[in-house]
Amino acid sequence: MIAAEKVRAMHRERAKSDCALFQAPGRVNLIGEHTDYAEGFVLPAAIEFATTAAISPRADNLIRIYSSNFNEERGYDSLALPAKGSGDWGDYPMGVAAMLAGQGHRIPGFTLTVASDVPLGSGLSSSAAIEVATALALQWLMGFELPRPKLARLCQRAENEFVGANCGIMDQFISANAQAGHALLLDCRDLSFRMAHIPENVELVIANTMVRHSVAGGEYRTRRAEVEEACAVIGKHRPEVKFLRDATLEDLAQWAEEMSANAVKRARHVIGENLRTVAAADALEAGDLKRVGQLMAEAHESYSREFEGSCAEADLMVELANGLPGLIGARLTGGGFGGCTVNLVEKSRAEEFSERLGAAYKERTGIVAEIHKTRAAEGAGAVATS
Ligand code: ADP
Ligand code: MG
Repeated sequence: MIAAEKVRAMHRERAKSDCALFQAPGRVNLIGEHTDYAEGFVLPAAIEFATTAAISPRADNLIRIYSSNFNEERGYDSLALPAKGSGDWGDYPMGVAAMLAGQGHRIPGFTLTVASDVPLGSGLSSSAAIEVATALALQWLMGFELPRPKLARLCQRAENEFVGANCGIMDQFISANAQAGHALLLDCRDLSFRMAHIPENVELVIANTMVRHSVAGGEYRTRRAEVEEACAVIGKHRPEVKFLRDATLEDLAQWAEEMSANAVKRARHVIGENLRTVAAADALEAGDLKRVGQLMAEAHESYSREFEGSCAEADLMVELANGLPGLIGARLTGGGFGGCTVNLVEKSRAEEFSERLGAAYKERTGIVAEIHKTRAAEGAGAVATS
């Protein structure tokens, strides 16, 4: 996290006034890929990289937002808020303001300074971090407090409706609700959740493959269509199945012949992944790290072979991790076709693991991977309000 005093000093320089400070973390998903839109389970944890937002009121109706990541400022009129984003970074904080306005709040003028050490656009959810940090800052300024699940929903809507990005609820939910030292098992159907403690001697190592294959968008749409095809076939026989969350592997086996071969494979991944995700939370809580590691390995295999959502670089990053001392479990995390792998690693070996993984990946691909080591971090909150 960027030191709060640094952000306060930046803000004071611009606004010539003191400020309140809030922070919201990025996240990594330990297991549960492509289960969210099947109304299933995910198991993310917050990371020790966060966005800090400093806010102070203004006497006029101007909104001035500065991002130290871009070293740029944006200006808006609080009496004439835009209804939609314009493809700019300012859309993320302004989307939150617009959603609050849509709920009947009058948005006053304010000065906001944001600074983040979550890598932008790397799949660690800098977008949710800036949204949640902004939402906390705005509700403090305006004198109300939403329950955290509602705050997460508001931020998701800002990203869906204002920014125009089709994300699920996971990122905002974990940023707003995480507990240090824990992963969070989230039921994407009703937003009920429980914490799963991550033993003290375990670190999370996130390895960025540094590739994102351009097929991702198109492939994502085909995968979703295939998942829906499988669900529709099962639903014909069992009308109570509206999402794959409600289907079993037995259902799939019974009616596989009525589906395309790809639909069967994608559905096998999603149905199995839901089971694995709940089992991983149980195993974490029971301190059974061997089981957690097995489940992560099965999840990667399924993501790669059944869902066909991996790529050569991500498969290699997982394969290399599997050969290193200290590894508990490794898999590709996120939407697929590149991005980051998540590794659970014994704390005492984590430094050595990170170095060796980076060196081996560079030797095989020529690519220098960004590797981040972290414990599961606390969720969003106030840093200073006086
Ligand atoms: P991810 O959430 O994985 O980092 P996204 O594409 O969803 O990737 O979101 C990244 C975008 O969010 C950035 O390109 C930028 O527009 C916006 N953003 C995130 N953090 C900041 C920040 N600190 N300052 C300004 N914009 C930010
Ligand atoms: Mg994002």
